[in-house]
Amino acid sequence: MQTYSIHAVWFGERPALSRQMFYGDPHDAPVTVAYYVWVVTDGQRTLVVDLGFTPEVAQKRGRQIARPVADGLRAIGVDPAAVTDAVITHFHYDHVGNYRLFPNAVFHVQDDEMRLFTGRYLRFRPYRDLVEIDDICNFVRLNYDGRLRFVDGDKQLLPGVTLHRVGGDSAALQAVRVATRRGYAVVASDAAHFYRNMEEHAPFPLYLTHSLPQVHEAFDRIQELADGPDLIFPGHDPAVLERFEPAGERIVVLR
Ligand SMILES: [Zn+2]
Repeated sequence: MQTYSIHAVWFGERPALSRQMFYGDPHDAPVTVAYYVWVVTDGQRTLVVDLGFTPEVAQKRGRQIARPVADGLRAIGVDPAAVTDAVITHFHYDHVGNYRLFPNAVFHVQDDEMRLFTGRYLRFRPYRDLVEIDDICNFVRLNYDGRLRFVDGDKQLLPGVTLHRVGGDSAALQAVRVATRRGYAVVASDAAHFYRNMEEHAPFPLYLTHSLPQVHEAFDRIQELADGPDLIFPGHDPAVLERFEPAGERIVVLR
């Protein structure tokens, strides 16, 4: 069977408190929110999962860029200009910002996610706050230019790489299931921000913008898709750096 490696490349962070991250946690314990992009490759085909955000957006929103996304990708030998496919797990600003780094890529998006952020609710603040309007306008433009590929539910993208729609924090997040030498691994992205959200079924408060029941379903679904709890990449957990093999400065790999 075709197998791939998965790199998690940390590009930024922000400080937060545990009560802001985990439903039912009353504590003010400090928590670091890590920002990642992921790279799936078999050495020939390379797939980028999510795009991160730009330094301009980091400054506007008070986030820290540890290393620009392009530099992180180059550190593992990926030339952004050579990337032909990128998966957008959902449209929140921290996942869709750097499309200009990938002039030769098509972007795989879920129908319902595009619908949500180009539809009637975007005028309300909880949705406006989650996105940069320039990103959304540019995704409309990318579609006009023929560079979006729409997914409605689940889809095989490459042999051994499948996309899986899960609900929860947005209309249609997509998790990426990848065949690796150790079994099926899952880039969960924000289907679980932290391992703890999933392990304790303690949702991140963004379910307020969509569906709490679907958050719990998503926790179960990503664990079902992976061949083990040690084969899951959550969206924002610094612990990813300890659970996988180091492959550079704040970069880890699952081979
Ligand atoms: Zn996120």
